[in-house]
Amino acid sequence: FQDIEEAENLYNGDWDKVRLLLGGKGANLAKMYKIGITVPPGYTITTECCNEFLKLGGKFPQGMWDQSNEALRVVEKMTGKKLGDPNYPLLVACRSGAYKSMPGMMDTVLNIGLNDKTAEGLCKISGDPRFVYDSYRRLVQGFGAIVLGLDDEEYEHPLAQYKKKYGFKYDNELQAENWIELTRQFQQITKNISGIEFPQDPIKQYEMSIKAVFNSWNVPRAIQYRKQTGIPDHLGTAVNIVTMVFGNMGEVDSGTGVAFTRNPSNGNKEIFGEFLFNAQGEDVVAGIRNTLPISALNDQLPGCYKQFIQECTKLENYYKEMQDVEFTIEKGKLYFLQTRDAKRTAFARFKTMVDMVEEGLIDKKTAIKRISPSDVDMMLHPQFDPNVLKKAKKQGKLFGKGVAASPGAAVGRVYFNADKCEEMSKDGPVIMCRPFTKPDDVNGMFASKGLFTAEGGATSHAAVVARQFGTPCVVGTGLVIDDEEGVATNGKITIREGDWVSVNGTTGEIFKAKIDTIDVKLEDQKDLLKILGWCDEFCAQKGTRNIKNGPNRGLMVWANADTAEDALRARKYGAQGIGLCRTEHQFLGDRAKYLRTFIMSEDKDDKKKALDKLRELQTKDFEELFIAMTDLPVIIRLLDPPLHEFLPDLLELTREVYELRGKGQKDEEKETLLKQAEQMHESNPMLGLRGVRLVIIKRELVEMQATAIIQGAINAKKKGYNPDPEIMIPLVGHINELKELQPEIDEIAKKLLKKNNTKIDYKIGTMIEIPRACLVSGELTKYAEFFSFGTNDLTQMTFGYSRDDAEGGFLLKYVEDGILPCNPFQSVDQIGVGRLIKMCVDEGRESKPQMDIGVCGEHGGDPKSIKFFSDAGLSYVSCSSLRVPVARLSACQAIL
Ligand code: PEP
Ligand code: MG
Repeated sequence: FQDIEEAENLYNGDWDKVRLLLGGKGANLAKMYKIGITVPPGYTITTECCNEFLKLGGKFPQGMWDQSNEALRVVEKMTGKKLGDPNYPLLVACRSGAYKSMPGMMDTVLNIGLNDKTAEGLCKISGDPRFVYDSYRRLVQGFGAIVLGLDDEEYEHPLAQYKKKYGFKYDNELQAENWIELTRQFQQITKNISGIEFPQDPIKQYEMSIKAVFNSWNVPRAIQYRKQTGIPDHLGTAVNIVTMVFGNMGEVDSGTGVAFTRNPSNGNKEIFGEFLFNAQGEDVVAGIRNTLPISALNDQLPGCYKQFIQECTKLENYYKEMQDVEFTIEKGKLYFLQTRDAKRTAFARFKTMVDMVEEGLIDKKTAIKRISPSDVDMMLHPQFDPNVLKKAKKQGKLFGKGVAASPGAAVGRVYFNADKCEEMSKDGPVIMCRPFTKPDDVNGMFASKGLFTAEGGATSHAAVVARQFGTPCVVGTGLVIDDEEGVATNGKITIREGDWVSVNGTTGEIFKAKIDTIDVKLEDQKDLLKILGWCDEFCAQKGTRNIKNGPNRGLMVWANADTAEDALRARKYGAQGIGLCRTEHQFLGDRAKYLRTFIMSEDKDDKKKALDKLRELQTKDFEELFIAMTDLPVIIRLLDPPLHEFLPDLLELTREVYELRGKGQKDEEKETLLKQAEQMHESNPMLGLRGVRLVIIKRELVEMQATAIIQGAINAKKKGYNPDPEIMIPLVGHINELKELQPEIDEIAKKLLKKNNTKIDYKIGTMIEIPRACLVSGELTKYAEFFSFGTNDLTQMTFGYSRDDAEGGFLLKYVEDGILPCNPFQSVDQIGVGRLIKMCVDEGRESKPQMDIGVCGEHGGDPKSIKFFSDAGLSYVSCSSLRVPVARLSACQAIL
């Protein structure tokens, strides 16, 4: 294409497709040019070429080389320079650029076109041999490291030694003669180690660099990054050939920087960036030199600064999103080298989205679409207790302080290299400590709970990657870190490999201590709450939960909660009902003995007493639950789990009895217990006496639980609350099971209400957990006023995988080997289980159009599954209280 609009027209304005073809960097460079921002002339070789190149085993696809040379001619014409011409040498950068940015994962070669002759020519033109040979040695170094695959240390080490020998601290102190010497030395290093001479032919440099950048799509760190971030492997990278502009042409009016159009840590509306005079390319992000804040530019080059601010605003207004830019100033002229949507902390994400809506830059729907479920998750991340921190400081445990690069609290044992972090993370939480991080360190960063570095600023590699993954991170601490020895010191305190440290990414502090963390208060997160409020509004815009859902009506979000305390938390998090109270969870601890007596005892009186006690306890539980959830529906499920969960452990009991018998003793009670336990033992308890079957067989349980639920509601009502009880029968597979129970429960409820002269609406419904129930759902509506999918059991029974065993066993391998696309207990299997769900909904709604149908399995909190449930027309998802905020976002995103 000659013009970005041609590409956009080809895809009917679908910018995403343009980016897929040209990569984010290429598409945005072309777009910046179009909207009048100064970018250096250049062109982009598409991702299609990369994929074809990789498919052909490292050969350019037909026609690519010629087209690329044609484009080069255009650039030469625009610049009046020529690649390899000693009089007017054109220098270009060969930069990777994938569809989604993968910071630092792939390669870039700078200063292509320099050789012994063009370097001399450029000296004459620029009159600045220091700059020329600094650029030349960078090319030799970059070419060796990236194109020939040598370790960067092969160059960095001699450079460090050279500086030490001649007493230089920073690179910009070296003079022309030093760089000339180092350029020769670097060329020799290349030859000695790789056996290949650094090519003097610029076309060869250019060709080999393109190939290297294509190949960098498949370097291990890029593959790992994609795996971690879910970027598909087949996308490939584009290659951008861009005229070099030089930030290393002197201390006065040249430099390079990176900036965010708003603050990436807290979202404040202020340009936030770093700048280095007399520097090039990666110098800023590499964290090798101490950078200046962007305001330093205002002091030295106010004209450039003003233009920079104006163009940043222009970019933000054009993209209607916070941008992250790279720029260079060459002898007072400003060039933008890149712009992209800025990565930021979850906190900054919420703040920028709310601000932009309030500034009128975007609408609420756009803001919601840009939030990811993991952003919501991160806002609920733990923090340190400020009082404990204060105490730790008083005790002299503060070890370091640096730039707070990514917020949150992390505690773990410290390790000093990426592989060790990865290895040790298997044994417990790990904190990574590095002088600075490089893309090669990502495996360690992924494995670590937190991270701190000696060098680098808020836009360094460590900071950017940590923010993206929500890993608490502190950079630029100035600590002396010896990663080979595994020690770090601040001069007074030393930490060694394996010591406990705590990293506070919110304040930038590091402690040599294991400090407890506390949960974050949702009510303090005003931007998050605002956006979740918008989500609820969109979801509620059409219809009510009793009217058949169309795709326009959003899901409600209910919660699974067993106690009033949990219900209150769920309500605080925005739950609009309780979709599942697992009553068996109320029989744990001390109370288990009553249930056990009821089940095991042969004495009628004992049995009755136990049941009366259970009724009394449950009535109180339910009353509290209804009070906590006043005005909102509460679904209480009848006892569900297999009985053996409440019986003594058969193996243990057998051993005890046989041990006694071996000693010639006999414990009558234990003998009876063993006999009963043996009688009740089932080979497949999950397919045995549980759910509806249990309460049908142990019928008194129905009376006890139905009475407790309705009496609990009556008691709550008498205290002035407004209970909305729904009774749910689990594990139904046949209409006759409902026919057996529903009338009985209904009668108990009616009688009790009449006796108390109270009116309370209640519902009786069923769980859908057995494939057969999905197949006969129309029939079930005769006795069920609502359905709730128990997708845990439905998945178990549809796949025939034991939900208790599979995840620790073959299932992981199935997912790893791609036999299954994902774990079906985490994200609902839309094709199989999903088909049953759809059939069930359609038939159920045909018989009873206004019925509520929800989900209360674990999938109710999974964003991908939520989209499916929304499309299937369900009324609500019910998930654990902590997932409620995530589900509110996902439910809304499903209908936008
Ligand atoms: C289910 O099976 O999905 C469900 C919610 O019930 P439980 O997990 O208690 O078996
Ligand atoms: Mg179940």
